[in-house]
Amino acid sequence: MSRASAIFQLTSRKATWLVFVMTALVVADLTRGVSTAAPRSDGGASNSTRSAAEAGDDVATAVARKLGLGTRKMASALLTRAPAREIRNAVHGGTAKRLLWPVEQGNFVRGFGYVRKVRRELPHLGVDIAARTGTPINAAADGLVAYADDGVKGFGNLLILVHGDGAVTSYAHCNRLLVRVGESVSRGAPVAEVGSTGISKGPHLHFEFRTRGKPRNPMKRFDRPKQEPKAPSLAVAAFVPHYAAL
Ligand SMILES: [Zn+2]
Repeated sequence: MSRASAIFQLTSRKATWLVFVMTALVVADLTRGVSTAAPRSDGGASNSTRSAAEAGDDVATAVARKLGLGTRKMASALLTRAPAREIRNAVHGGTAKRLLWPVEQGNFVRGFGYVRKVRRELPHLGVDIAARTGTPINAAADGLVAYADDGVKGFGNLLILVHGDGAVTSYAHCNRLLVRVGESVSRGAPVAEVGSTGISKGPHLHFEFRTRGKPRNPMKRFDRPKQEPKAPSLAVAAFVPHYAAL
């Protein structure tokens, strides 16, 4: 075989592979469009994919409107009372009996019930998890996004999820919120980024867990805590002064 024909054969084999891979990608794209989007008479692959995202947004908006989610009033209600039955019933998926540690790369820095040196009248109603700004925050359990905004004083960008058993988790001081009100999220889905918005002196997630409207210590529910819960200690505050906020 001449060198030229060997090169030609090699090139044509590569070209066959290229065609094969591209066909597979197009088929995968079409399949995805078909499985998630309503059929469209004019639908090409990109149209179907875009309409699926739009359809998802429409569903979330309709759910939010129907249940009155996303308002500051709703946020306050969910931080003080059990969610209404109609909201619980709209949640897809499992319960919040077991929780996923919400920042895989984050470290426990302050526990539930910690008493601040200043503002002693405000006990710490959550768990602080320190991580760099932009670190992903994952949903601790399957849930429905009930609030995603910065209208609650002190918390900065705040996300509130309602879970199927009526439990509520909240994620404060976020850098960015990645989900929409009315959207259903699965346990482990990225929902926000760690930040330092609101009253906060350094990037961390302030995570709260509630049942029947009451804040509870979530530490025993976590499947894989990064660190064993420590008794809330002044030593932690002394060594990590910049987490001495909410
Ligand atoms: Zn906190």
